[in-house]
Amino acid sequence: MNNIPQRLRRQLAADPEYKICALKDYHECGGRITYEHALIVAGKQLQTRYAIVPVCARGHEVDGFQDAHTMDKDMNRWVALNRATDTELRAISRAIPYIRERARLNSIYGPYRGPCAVPPPPPNITPSLFPLYSFA
Ligand SMILES: [Zn+2]
Repeated sequence: MNNIPQRLRRQLAADPEYKICALKDYHECGGRITYEHALIVAGKQLQTRYAIVPVCARGHEVDGFQDAHTMDKDMNRWVALNRATDTELRAISRAIPYIRERARLNSIYGPYRGPCAVPPPPPNITPSLFPLYSFA
């Protein structure tokens, strides 16, 4: 997991999405964020942003979670495939038709919505919205 090209590693380190476990809403999280190469294409780890999934140590079975059986490789692939565009998936679909693989995983896990669903801002309460409380 430490073999990410330096330039890409720097980009990921500066990316806010890589500070959060991509599965935080889908599993029990634990530990630091690690980078998981979720796609192996032609025997090699795919070195692209969408294929390198930020996942907690528990979801990656590293650190104290080795042999804990807390990693679901299909879920990591599901995240990666849903972060890719159809064009990107067509480009890597030789032995495995990845668009079909994404559909198969979506039929198991549902649509992937990402880790950073930003909650809506609080309603902007201004006195003018509450004219009943005006005593003027
Ligand atoms: Zn996690």
